[in-house]
Amino acid sequence: MDERCEKCGAPLTQDEIALHRKLVSRGAEKFWCKECLSAHFDIPVKRLDELVVYYREAGCTLFT
Ligand SMILES: [Zn+2]
Repeated sequence: MDERCEKCGAPLTQDEIALHRKLVSRGAEKFWCKECLSAHFDIPVKRLDELVVYYREAGCTLFT
C-alpha cells in the first residue's frame, strides 16, 4: 500500500492510517499524516505518538 496524505501529500505510515481511522472515520479511504491530524484536531504530534502506543497496547485491531 502506498498511501499519501490527502492534505499535504506526505507518505503515510500504517500508524498514521490507523490513527486517522480511529480519530476521523473507520471507513475512511483518504488519510492524513500525523502533522495534518495534529493541526486539524489541535493535538500535539507527540500526543498522537502516545495515542498510537496506547491503542496498540489496548489491543486495538487497527494498530498492527
Ligand atoms: Zn499531511
